[in-house]
Amino acid sequence: AKEGGRNTFRFYSEEMNRHSAEQVRLETELRRAVMQERFQLHYQPKLEIATGEIEGVEALVRWPRRDGRMFSPDAFIPLAEETGLIVPLGRWILKQACADVVAINAQRVRPLRVAVNLSAKQFQQEDLEQMVLEALEETGLETQLLELELTESMMMGDVDEAINTMSILKGLGLTLSIDDFGTGYSSLSYLKRFPVDALKIDQSFVRDLERDSEDAAIVHAVCNLGESLGMKVVAEGIETQLQMDFLRQLNCDTGQGYFIARPMPLAQLQDFLAQHQG
Ligand code: C2E
Ligand code: CA
Ligand code: CA
Ligand code: CA
Repeated sequence: AKEGGRNTFRFYSEEMNRHSAEQVRLETELRRAVMQERFQLHYQPKLEIATGEIEGVEALVRWPRRDGRMFSPDAFIPLAEETGLIVPLGRWILKQACADVVAINAQRVRPLRVAVNLSAKQFQQEDLEQMVLEALEETGLETQLLELELTESMMMGDVDEAINTMSILKGLGLTLSIDDFGTGYSSLSYLKRFPVDALKIDQSFVRDLERDSEDAAIVHAVCNLGESLGMKVVAEGIETQLQMDFLRQLNCDTGQGYFIARPMPLAQLQDFLAQHQG
């Protein structure tokens, strides 16, 4: 058993070295990509359920690698957070998303809104307000067309500090939403103090809506909660007609998911919007 223990230890430490060498390689590559701004934004349409109109898009970052593979954010956003690279990357994402939507809106009657995901590090950034103002000024996007998506976990450390940051952002005239709502642990007493405009029901609750009566009950409750608190409710991860119908019946405001459209590059979004109008 002793022998096995030592072997196990050696095994783990080799694993860890391999892991950290891989980690260092990835970090170097990520740092270079951030400096050279080699990322792409995909956009997923958001449907206003009552009217059937596309009211906005969510920007989702992609990392096209040299070998042709496309890295999804789950594969590098955590590392970007850990290394602080999320700050310059997040700045680029925000500015690019604003610029893209300004370009799209030049050809539209009803202007499209754009939602950008903020990471915890960015939310704590001293110059967050400055960064947002800069993106708006440099691109000319009207402030009320910008939405920032936050998560519950960002708000639960120092609640007063978080409320202060949210109030500053709200003061600029943009909108705020809580992403992945229901998966964190924000209590309802905090929720009423948060100056947020929308709740995004996490896709894990939407996914099993048809089979799982508890998930259906949670979705129902969040829709009612949003209505009572004067917040819009957005459902994400809608993949079927049945889910769509269920959410429409609950007067859910906005829908997002593969059933409506997958995230897509800007050029494809232009085509999608043209078709959706016609
Ligand atoms: P999220 O903000 O909750 O984004 C929703 C994710 O669900 C996206 O994955 C989207 O492609 C996917 N999705 C949308 N509709 C459906 C559907 O009907 N079914 C299923 N199964 N999935 C759907 P993605 O693009 O891989 O992003 C993953 C996460 O990475 C995001 O979750 C967000 O937390 C983070 N992320 C993405 N872009 C950014 C960014 O620009 N900045 C930051 N800080 N985080 C980002
Ligand atoms: Ca999001
Ligand atoms: Ca989400
Ligand atoms: Ca998520």
